[in-house]
Amino acid sequence: MNILVINCGSSSLKYQLININSEEVLAQGICDRIYLEGSILKHKAKDKKIEKQVPMPDHKSAIGYVFEILTDGEYGAIKSLDEIKAIGHRAVHGGEYFRSSVLADDNVIETMRECSDLAPLHNPANITGLIACKELMPDTPMVCVFDTAFHATIEPVAYLYATPYEWYEKYKVRKYGFHGTSHYYVSRKTAEFLGLDINNSKIITCHLGNGSSICAVKNGKSIDTSMGLSPLEGIAMGTRSGDLDPAVLQHIAKKENLNIDEVLNILNKKSGVLGISKLSSDFRDLLKAENEGNELAKIARRVFAYRVAKYIGSYVVAMNGVDAIAFCAGIGENAVYIRGMIVEHLEFLGVKLDKDININTIGKAAIISTQDSKVKICVMPTNEELVIAQDTFNIVSKL
Ligand code: ADP
Repeated sequence: MNILVINCGSSSLKYQLININSEEVLAQGICDRIYLEGSILKHKAKDKKIEKQVPMPDHKSAIGYVFEILTDGEYGAIKSLDEIKAIGHRAVHGGEYFRSSVLADDNVIETMRECSDLAPLHNPANITGLIACKELMPDTPMVCVFDTAFHATIEPVAYLYATPYEWYEKYKVRKYGFHGTSHYYVSRKTAEFLGLDINNSKIITCHLGNGSSICAVKNGKSIDTSMGLSPLEGIAMGTRSGDLDPAVLQHIAKKENLNIDEVLNILNKKSGVLGISKLSSDFRDLLKAENEGNELAKIARRVFAYRVAKYIGSYVVAMNGVDAIAFCAGIGENAVYIRGMIVEHLEFLGVKLDKDININTIGKAAIISTQDSKVKICVMPTNEELVIAQDTFNIVSKL
C-alpha cells in the first residue's frame, strides 16, 4: 500500500511517496517558491531526478504538478493516482485538541483553524495544502499528524509558564512543543538499538536541524521539551534565538523603533547562530569560517553547543537520571564536532565519547560513547515522514 506524505510550509511543499509494507521511499521532492517568481519542482524517483521551473501561484497548482510527476511515464513512480491509498499531512499545531493523529474531516480542519492563532506561520499553510489535496483527490482519505501530539503527555508542572493563570484559561498560553514525530521515532529506535525497554527508560532526544529541540522521554512518554507555545523557545537555532529575557523585546522595539511583529520576525529569522556569526545559519559554513579564523563563527558554534548541553542537564534533573542521549536531524546526524563539543559539557554524568567512532559516524545509527561510559550516546537518523505514513496507514486501515 502506498501512502503520500505531504509537508506544507508557507511557500514550499515537500512530499514523499512511501510503500508502507517495505518502508521504501518510491519518490520524493519539493515544490519551492510557491506564490513567488521562479517557483521550482525538484523531484526524485529511484535513480531519476528532475528539476523544472513551473508557475505555482498557489498550493493547489503545486500539488497538481506533484500528482502529474508521480504518474509521469519517465520520472514517475506509479501508473495512476489510484495507487495512492491515503495522504498523510504533517500538521504543526494541534493545541490541546489533538493528542494523536486523526482522519482529516471538516471538523478537524475547523479545529486546526482555531489553533492558527497559536501558529500563524504554520497552520494556515497546512490547512491550505490539506484543502487543495481534498479538492484534487476527494475520495482519498487524508490524515493529519500533529507535531505537538507526542508532547500531549507533558504535565502542567512542565507546561505552565509562570504567568497569570488567566492567560492559560483564556488563551491557552502554555508550552506545547514541536518535532513530536521525530522525538517519538528517535526515542523508540534508540531504545530498540540499545536493547532498552522503552517502558522503563530515560532517553533525551536532541533533534538538531534548522529548527532544533530537545525532549525528555521517560518510559516512552514526552515529559518535557525545549520548544514552547511556538518553535521560538528553547536552544539557540539556525536563525531562531531560543530562550531570552522577554525584556529584550521592549528594549529593542524602543531602540530600533520596531513593533512587536518586527522584533519577533528578527528573533525567528535573523537570530540564532546566523545572528551571532553575522554569516550563516548553516553549521558547515560556520565550521569552515572558524577554521579560517572567524571569531564570531567560533562563538556561535560554542553558544549552540553550550545551550544544548544545559538543556540536556536540566532534563537529567527532570527525569532524575538518564540512560541514553540520542542525536538526530541535519546537525545531530552530521556535525561531528558539534556533537563532541556538546558531550564535553556532560563529563559530570560520567559520559565518555569514543572520538574515533564519533568522527566516523555521519548520517547513520551508531553508539558514539565508549563501552565504560555511564550514559550511552547515540546517533539515530530521524524519519518523520515514515511516522506520518505509518500513522496514516494505521488510521485508514480501520476505516
Ligand atoms: P530542517 O529543519 O530544515 O529539516 P535539517 O534537519 O535538514 O533541517 O538540518 C539542516 C542543517 O543541518 C543545516 O542548516 C546544517 O546546519 C546542518 N548540516 C547538514 N549537513 C551537515 C554536515 N554535513 N555537517 C554539518 N552540519 C550539517
